[in-house]
Amino acid sequence: MNFSLSQIARAALVFTIAAHGPVQAADQSEALVLRGAKLYVAPDRAPIADGVVVMLGNKIVAAGAKDTVKIPAGARESQCSGPVIAAGFQNSHVHFIGDAWNNAGKQPAQDLSKRIADMLTRYGYATVFDIASDRDNTLALRARVERGEVAGPRILTVGLPLFPPNGIPIYLDHFPREFLNILPQPATPEAAVKVVRENLDAGADGTKLFIATPQPKEIRRMPAAIARAAADETHRRGKLIIAHPTDIQGVQAALDAGVDILAHTTLGVETPWPDELRREAVRKNLSVIPTLKLMEYELKKENVPPAVVPRLVAASVDHVKTFAAAGGQILFGTDVGYMSDFDPTEEYVLMARAGLTPMQILASLTTAPAARWKEGDRRGRVEAGMDADLVVLDADPATDVANFSKVRCTISRGRTIYSAQDKK
Ligand SMILES: [Zn+2]
Repeated sequence: MNFSLSQIARAALVFTIAAHGPVQAADQSEALVLRGAKLYVAPDRAPIADGVVVMLGNKIVAAGAKDTVKIPAGARESQCSGPVIAAGFQNSHVHFIGDAWNNAGKQPAQDLSKRIADMLTRYGYATVFDIASDRDNTLALRARVERGEVAGPRILTVGLPLFPPNGIPIYLDHFPREFLNILPQPATPEAAVKVVRENLDAGADGTKLFIATPQPKEIRRMPAAIARAAADETHRRGKLIIAHPTDIQGVQAALDAGVDILAHTTLGVETPWPDELRREAVRKNLSVIPTLKLMEYELKKENVPPAVVPRLVAASVDHVKTFAAAGGQILFGTDVGYMSDFDPTEEYVLMARAGLTPMQILASLTTAPAARWKEGDRRGRVEAGMDADLVVLDADPATDVANFSKVRCTISRGRTIYSAQDKK
C-alpha cells in the first residue's frame, strides 16, 4: 500500500504527540528566546546578569550569559522577557476539589484555563502536586492539559486519599455527601493495598494517608499495619507516600510507616517536636510541606481569639525552623483548592520568618521537589537539556521574598501557560 507524503507526515505528528505530549505543538518547532536581566540558574549557583534561555519544543537547549549563548537562526523572541528568570515552580500541596472543578472532562476549556490561572499558574507553578481529589475528575483535567486543550501546569496527583476506618475528619464536613462517600477508609492492610493499587493503576502518582484525623471528641488514628501496608505497596511501585500528620504522634506514625512527605507541619501544636523525633525525620529523609499560611486561615475560620493566633502561628513557624536548621528537606506548598485564598505571598513571608533564605525558598520550589521526585536530571534548574519549565518574575526575590509571587509568565515544558500581559 502506498502512503502519500501528507499521510506519513500526519502519522509522524501523531507519533510525536503520543510520545511526548501536546507541548510539541506546531508553534514550538522553532526556537524561542527568553531574556532576563537576572537569571537564577539554580539556588546553589550565583545568578547571571543579562541571561538568555533558548527553548526548542519542551526543552531548554541553551542558557547562560548573553554573550555566551548562540541564538539559532530564525528563533522567535518570547513576549515574556523581563527582570528575573528562574526555573518553573512546583506547588507540592494543592487540591482540585469543590464545585469549580466538577465535570472537568466536559467543562469549557477556557473556563478551566482561567480557573487554573487564578489558582496556580499566575503564581508561577509549572508543576503541581494534587494531594487528594476526586481522582477520575483530576485525571480528566490532566488529560486535557496534556492534550493542550486547557492551559495548565504538569499535574501530579495522589487521587483518592486513604482515611482511618470511620475517620473522615471534621474539617471536610462541608463537602457534599457524594464526594465524602467515595473516600476510602480501608479496615484492613489488604483493603489498603487494594485501594493503593486501584489508584496507581488508574494513573495516580503517589498515595496520601490521613494518618490522624480530628473527630468531634477525639483524634482517630490509622492502624499502624494499614499505614505500613499502604506505604510498602506505594514504594513497591516506585511512588511517593505522603501523610497528613495532625499532631506529634501523627509525625511518629508517619515515620513508622515509612512515609516520604508530610503534607503540613504540626499546625496548632504548641509543643516543639522532641529532638529525637526531629533527628529521626531528618535521618529518614522525610520532607515537610510547611503550609504556614493555612494556619492563620484556619484559626480565623474557627474564630480563635485574635490574641491566640500569633502564638500558634509562631509555634508552627518554629517547627519548620528547627526542622530546616537540622537539615530537613522543605517542599513548598499552600493547600490551595482547599484554601480559597490563593495568594502565596504570606507563605513566602512566613517561610522567611522560619529562617529560610530566599535561595532556600527557591530550592523548596524547584530543586528540592525535582530531587524528591527523582527528576533532578530533568527539571528544577535552568540549564541545557532540562525541561523548559520557567518562571519570569517582575522583581527580585533575593531582595524581598514577596517578589516570588510577582509573576509575569509561567512556562511549562516550553508552553507559555500564563502571561500577565494577556490578562490586561
Ligand atoms: Zn490539603
